[in-house]
Amino acid sequence: MAQSGSHGGLVVTKADQKALREFFGTLGIDQAFTDRSDKEVFNIHYQDYTSNGTTPNDRITPIGRYASKHSLQPGDILILDRIDAEERKDYFIEYARRLSSVFFAGKSRTTVDILNFEQLIEVLTKNITDGTVRRLSANEFEMAVHYLGIVGTLRILQNTDDYELYFNDMAISENKKYFELDASVVPFVLRKTETWRVSIDMDVEDIEANEEADANLIAGLADSDIPKSLPEYTPVPEEKAPEKESKGRMVPARNKQKAENALSRAGFKCEVGDHKTFLRKKNKLPYTEPHHLIPLQYDSQFEYSLDVEANIISLCSNCHNMIHYGADIEHTLRQLWNQRKDELEAAGLTQMKSGVKLTVEILLSFYGIE
Ligand SMILES: [Zn+2]
Ligand SMILES: [Zn+2]
Repeated sequence: MAQSGSHGGLVVTKADQKALREFFGTLGIDQAFTDRSDKEVFNIHYQDYTSNGTTPNDRITPIGRYASKHSLQPGDILILDRIDAEERKDYFIEYARRLSSVFFAGKSRTTVDILNFEQLIEVLTKNITDGTVRRLSANEFEMAVHYLGIVGTLRILQNTDDYELYFNDMAISENKKYFELDASVVPFVLRKTETWRVSIDMDVEDIEANEEADANLIAGLADSDIPKSLPEYTPVPEEKAPEKESKGRMVPARNKQKAENALSRAGFKCEVGDHKTFLRKKNKLPYTEPHHLIPLQYDSQFEYSLDVEANIISLCSNCHNMIHYGADIEHTLRQLWNQRKDELEAAGLTQMKSGVKLTVEILLSFYGIE
């Protein structure tokens, strides 16, 4: 398994590192995780990068594959759920936001932390309306739950920043124990679980390194002789070129020739619309910029090169900035996807390494769109 920091993996926040060390046992160990929905097994490697001084963060790799499959977003919470079955050690990764579950962690013998506070509010709000949850006061809620084999009453009492849980008026919080309140069935089910929370941070350094590499590609086109003629191109899967260094990180190489071909192929027009642009200083060709529709930042999730004409679109400066920094770009991305999906398929880019087929929804998630 790759241990280089080049593709980052997911950065683990300081607060989660202790729990992860507990979870993985030793640092740098591989663990198999099973996707509960389709039983796909993910091997996840936890690496302490603090020890080699390259980065201040611990990382989990390659959880990113799982993240894109499930459209995880930075700030989401993953619940790693340990299931010890016979000889095998299986782990389930729960995507808390997808479940109608609320997770608590025991803070002391009497109080708990809510791991996914917004989820709790959602569950309470949703169920107060239909009477499943009763609101006793501004900070006290009551509901019927199935717990330890019987149905009783769960009372959740909010203090300033922590909570107390009572089942039939007995405090049920336990130091460092995790509880799941499953609200997908009525009565709700409350169970103790072996779970750890992992927050997902955006790998800012990796994003910046890729942005710099893109900026260098665009700057490099300013003084090159871009061929006017439409180059012949048949999309086929292509091997990846060796990575290049950018801002101290290794990132996918950007081939200037391919970018030029892509602009030529588009007839130097903006592929979002035939937008009016200006002429290049060097060769008086209409000015457009190359943009990788599947962002190169996601290179590690693909078997074949993303730096191919099939994946490079020609955009006017305005549309290029819009696609990177604009709001409401979903419509534009869907349009570009429709224009390119057949070529992406022919270039082997609709099949992700995880075995998942790339869809427009996954592409949208690469741009941070739900
Ligand atoms: Zn771009
Ligand atoms: Zn445009």
